[in-house]
Amino acid sequence: MCHDFLNDSRFYQFLLHIDQETAAEVQAGGCPCGGVLHSARYPRKPRGIREMRDASYQTRLSFCCAVEGCRRRCTPPSVRFLGRKVYLGVVVILITALEHGLTPKRRQRLIEILDLWPQTISRWRRWWREIFPASPCWQSWRGYFVPALAVTELPGALLGRLVGDELMARLCRLLRLLMPITTESWSGYPRGIGDPQKM
Ligand SMILES: [Zn+2]
Repeated sequence: MCHDFLNDSRFYQFLLHIDQETAAEVQAGGCPCGGVLHSARYPRKPRGIREMRDASYQTRLSFCCAVEGCRRRCTPPSVRFLGRKVYLGVVVILITALEHGLTPKRRQRLIEILDLWPQTISRWRRWWREIFPASPCWQSWRGYFVPALAVTELPGALLGRLVGDELMARLCRLLRLLMPITTESWSGYPRGIGDPQKM
């Protein structure tokens, strides 16, 4: 399996572009109180791709309501940052999905490329098998997959069911599918997400 795109800055720019479009959509929608949303990004220090030191990945796009007395925080969903996890979403998916199919040598190489703490892998595995299956996000999607996906096979089996000839395309679809779980201060779904097996 080819992971060249992990070292390709265009891949990260593409994800950034999706985040920017989503953020623009959220900002245009305004605050539930009717107020205007102003940019209020917050700093992030993502781990995961050593070569990737683009400044755009050091901040999470976020907004704050301009109305005095409201000031509601509104963080758009993201295909880059998986909630509060310190590693990029792409890393959390890939390493757990590929874990079983890799030879020890290739696994070690991936751990080095991704700047990974080995002990975090078991935590992620538990997240995929216990936390994620209980989320409203997965509860709303799982019915689309026939035959049903086994929770014990997440996220690899899920990645395998999404449309796309290349791993990168399927990965991007999965990152979009996960968007609702990446924020607690905005609910809804960005446009362009329908049946996950067709999108
Ligand atoms: Zn407001």
